Amino acid sequence: MDLSANGVFDVRERFAAGAQYIDGTLCVGTSGRPHPVVAPATGETVYSYDLAGPGDVDAAVAAAAWALPGWAGATPGERSDAMHRFAGVLAGRAAEFAYAESLQCGKPLRLTTEFDVPGTVDNTAFFAGAARHLEGRAAGEYSGDHTSYVRREPVGVVSSITPWNYPLQMAAWKVLPAIAAGNTIVLKPAELTPLTSLMFAEAATEAGIPAGVVNVVAGAGKEAGEHLVGHPDVAMTSFTGSTAVGRRVAEIATGTVKRLHLELGGKAPFVVFDDADLEAAVHGAVAGALINTGQDCTAATRAYVQRPLYDAFVAGVADLFSGIRVGDPFDADTDLGPLVSHAQRDRVAGFVGRARSYATVVTGGDAPASPGAFYRPTLVTGAAQDSEIVQSEVFGPVLVVLPFDSDDEGLALANDTPYGLAASAWTRDVFRAGRATREIKAGCVWVNDHIPIISEMPHGGYRASGYGKDMSAYSLEEYTQVKHVMYDNTAVARKSWHRTVFGGR
Ligand code: ADP
Repeated sequence: MDLSANGVFDVRERFAAGAQYIDGTLCVGTSGRPHPVVAPATGETVYSYDLAGPGDVDAAVAAAAWALPGWAGATPGERSDAMHRFAGVLAGRAAEFAYAESLQCGKPLRLTTEFDVPGTVDNTAFFAGAARHLEGRAAGEYSGDHTSYVRREPVGVVSSITPWNYPLQMAAWKVLPAIAAGNTIVLKPAELTPLTSLMFAEAATEAGIPAGVVNVVAGAGKEAGEHLVGHPDVAMTSFTGSTAVGRRVAEIATGTVKRLHLELGGKAPFVVFDDADLEAAVHGAVAGALINTGQDCTAATRAYVQRPLYDAFVAGVADLFSGIRVGDPFDADTDLGPLVSHAQRDRVAGFVGRARSYATVVTGGDAPASPGAFYRPTLVTGAAQDSEIVQSEVFGPVLVVLPFDSDDEGLALANDTPYGLAASAWTRDVFRAGRATREIKAGCVWVNDHIPIISEMPHGGYRASGYGKDMSAYSLEEYTQVKHVMYDNTAVARKSWHRTVFGGR
């Protein structure tokens, strides 16, 4: 089967008009600085574009501000209809999106076809429905003399900054709740991977969402990103990326009093109790650690395995890791594609190289001979809990396994990093599972699985993993502001409470 046969297009031709999408039109960035889009599987430059400069950011924010009253004033039904059409356009272009995402990220086409793209279509359909379900919670005569009710209103022009690991899904997670709630948006994708964000914005226009509602500025983080976050006409920033950049974004947003939503790094624990289904845990760990070549902030990175199962678990994972087929993302047999870039591959190799001095590399730990940014699935044991490979986000196909004895110890180790995005507990005992779900400090705890996400449920972190939720009705609410409206019901000119201000008269 040749999965690459459908949806292939010439990137240079398709984006000949430029890699900025402002006010419903593709245009060329004005920074004067070109940036390549490199296929990480081959190292080839497949496209080069001029990065957005501050002037492009200003133009995109102006387009979003201009489109805001019309879009915010559309009925929920009108927004919902347009977004349903948007889902239809995306579904019709599924093969093109899968191709472009695989090309720029190096993801196996199997993954983009079965996960990234259908997930995005489903998110779009979900938020099309959710657009009609925004409501203020209360209406009532709480004071006795007034009727109060709550309006949920759009925040305004939203800015979003997204990373390179899931460019299409991240664009969807930021754009969809924002526009469903009546906001307009300027999205800045990562420099390495702008293509599917641009295609996503184009599809919105094609579906009849007015020009200016969804804009994309493909620019550098420091230049375009900081200008966008600090822009006085932007009311809110949502960001997914590293904790270090999130801190910088938060500083700028705080300085200009913006609403902020941060989805930062993770270091997800994978806790296997001694009564777990070993085969399920081994398969779950391999899939959870290697999805998207480990470049997933919820990826299973630290497996804690209770002593009786430890040796068998390590052997099982090592066996599966050795059989993983690393290679061409467009080959239907490929399990694991390259890292997103050679720089990211070298970063991962650096973590593993340093770990060799204090831990054991059981499988992998090297790159196959190839011009692509590949790295083999890597299993590490014998690392101390406070070591770099256990504590830091590697963002590559690397799983560390550590043993534990008591349940108390396993749960304490699971919580022992600054992060708190996701975790899983593996057990057949409902009480152990219940305890793990209560005590693990993370925005998501899976039981007997690791990774699945769904449009209806929130995704977001605890602690250094940030705050704010993507997907679900929770994210929709975050892109609104709550207004209390209070009507006097008495028609009395001299109200009794006035005497607290000017008594007697
Ligand atoms: P990654 O390591 O995954 O690239 P980053 O946090 O560095 O994660 O990047 C995520 C996004 O943040 C990218 O779109 C990048 O361009 C942007 N970015 C990087 N630095 C800044 C910054 N100083 N201000 C705003 N955005 C930034």
